[in-house]
Amino acid sequence: MGANDECGIFGILGTPEAARHTYYGLHALQHRGQESSGIVTSTYDEAEERPVMPIHKDFGLVLDVFDEEELFSQKLLGDHGIGHNRYSTSGASESRTNVQPFLVHDRKGNLALSHNGNLSNARELRRAFSEQGTLFQTTSDSELILHLIAQSRRERRVDQIIDALTQVEGAFSLVLLTDDHLIAVRDPNGFRPLALGRLGDAGQPGGPAWCVASETCAFDMIGADYVRDVEPGEILVIDRETAARGDASAFESYEVPGRHGVSQCIFEYVYFSRPDSKIFGEMVDKVRRQIGRQLALEAPVPEVEEGEKEPIVIPVPDSANTATLGYANECRKQGQRCHFEIGLIRNHYVGRTFIAPGQDQREMKVRGKFNTVEGLLRGRPVVVVDDSIVRGTTARYLVDMLRDSGAASVHFRVTSPPVVNPCFYGMDFPNESELLANQFDEVAEIGDFLGVDSLAYLSVEGLMEAVQTANKKNDLGYCNACFTGDYPVPVEPGQQKEEFEWR
Ligand code: AMP
Repeated sequence: MGANDECGIFGILGTPEAARHTYYGLHALQHRGQESSGIVTSTYDEAEERPVMPIHKDFGLVLDVFDEEELFSQKLLGDHGIGHNRYSTSGASESRTNVQPFLVHDRKGNLALSHNGNLSNARELRRAFSEQGTLFQTTSDSELILHLIAQSRRERRVDQIIDALTQVEGAFSLVLLTDDHLIAVRDPNGFRPLALGRLGDAGQPGGPAWCVASETCAFDMIGADYVRDVEPGEILVIDRETAARGDASAFESYEVPGRHGVSQCIFEYVYFSRPDSKIFGEMVDKVRRQIGRQLALEAPVPEVEEGEKEPIVIPVPDSANTATLGYANECRKQGQRCHFEIGLIRNHYVGRTFIAPGQDQREMKVRGKFNTVEGLLRGRPVVVVDDSIVRGTTARYLVDMLRDSGAASVHFRVTSPPVVNPCFYGMDFPNESELLANQFDEVAEIGDFLGVDSLAYLSVEGLMEAVQTANKKNDLGYCNACFTGDYPVPVEPGQQKEEFEWR
């Protein structure tokens, strides 16, 4: 997969604590990427009489990469900064040069970039640059954006950025740091979320600070308030003077023209974002509960005979917790006998399942990540709910574990439709042949493979309806290509595969 697909990005301007706030923000966004982390700030070097951008980045979790106080008190100085958490799982990830933020210097000064997403015309752009003799330092799409900016003949940095972004396609939520600005960008399709927040108010000395983050849980961490989403196709320019005045509507805002409509990633609601975040204008918790309720209408708990024990409904923690509450509540509302239990316990000190390379290690990670609460499960019908089945590794091993713990029967419910297509816009799915749902013709056959008594997925229509019901204010449209194959931005056949093979 791409080197910058699933990621968390954060930026802040207008506080001497810029690096520290970025650190806290990135920590709150740790679920979006655990492989590497980095922060760059902007400050003025009195000795050299020029603006400089100190940077620190490395492989590892935020708390490990930034484990020395001097980094904040002596190195990452300045009142604006950006940060990045990267998820990537492929060979590309082994290369240190791919760790973001990226930092370059050209005739207009310093420029740093954090990118969440995946460009779909990266191969084409890279070919064009290579023909001109451009040398690349990384194998990441994000570097292409920097080359395009540097090549622009426009005078103002902001115009160069607009120039560059009109030439890229696909998914890009970006934060850019110039010597004077913090710039936040969402691609015209609005694939990935990005929100604007304010820390403090206009009355405080120097005015409030302004921050942007992939998810609003990063604002809560630093005590900032959500102001609004960065709109699909918006380039929001946060400059010092306007920032100090405290009025968000006074920031310059430009448009990246789009040709393919708006298609926000539905999988952010299904799985990726945190339930305590507001994305695409609505709390993930609210949307996820509705998704669970919808599944209960389509595939309730199985009926049990008189005298049989009441089924328990258990989530695969943590990602399915919220949807499972919606599911169990709705089943009970519909008069079905069942109750919610915590039957699987998660060990939080194991990275996400996907990070382990190679199948054997993946299996070990499932076992290292979850354990069963035997006393709850023994002799009971168990309905286990997960947000998605991708390769099927998690589901298969969990079913074995539930049976070993004495469950009377095991019923699997999935709060999304079968994942049958790769994502070219930033979600880390394996290629088509590795997706479990592509290996069988019928859902029942998948159920047999998993060893369950029954299996049901949410329908595509049900998912779309649930999201629209929970987020009525946002009628911009969603991408559900991983379930339907309807790719909103065309992708050259074979493009991604080839792209990633040489990385
Ligand atoms: P799998 O074991 O391959 O079927 O993966 C499914 C599990 O991984 C589910 O429990 C999801 O919560 C989680 N998951 C789903 N999509 C992703 C993704 N893109 N990256 C990492 N984990 C995921």
